[in-house]
Amino acid sequence: MIYEIVKYGDEVLRQESTPVPEVNDDIKKLAADMLETMYAAQGVGLAAEQVGRTERLCVIDVPRNAEKPEWADFNAIIPMPLVMINPEITNIEGVQRDDEGCLSFPGIYVKISRGEKVTFAYTGLDGQRHSATAGGLLARAVQHETDHLFGVTMVDKMSQLQRMSVSGKLRRLRERA
Ligand code: ZN
Repeated sequence: MIYEIVKYGDEVLRQESTPVPEVNDDIKKLAADMLETMYAAQGVGLAAEQVGRTERLCVIDVPRNAEKPEWADFNAIIPMPLVMINPEITNIEGVQRDDEGCLSFPGIYVKISRGEKVTFAYTGLDGQRHSATAGGLLARAVQHETDHLFGVTMVDKMSQLQRMSVSGKLRRLRERA
């Protein structure tokens, strides 16, 4: 099932998610639907809030050919798509600054600083806790999606100047929400 993606201005994007106590059939179905929704929208990540849900769950799929070349091999051992239940970032190293977008902010791309390399833990669809370290675009996606699960969106990461430069687009999104 393809969900309608919630856009900036909807209050659910500000909501902190609730930890998932158990990987049951409902959670598996939600993960499958979120992946379908993300692929249909040609995104590389999607968090539960973006489909109007508040379970602590996000999905990511950064194709190898979209990754920064210097990180493609490093990230290759992390299986895609990545379904992360109750994710937690445990370490951040370095800084990268690149254009970032979000399916809840269509048409808006701004340079945002993120950690270059992140170590994170999550529960997979197998119910087991996993840990991984990623760099580059995948590291950016992990940080972006984990932020969503705590009610933090791209706009919170923008400078005042960046917010001003996209204020017209933000206003139009808010008016439609
Ligand atoms: Zn997003």
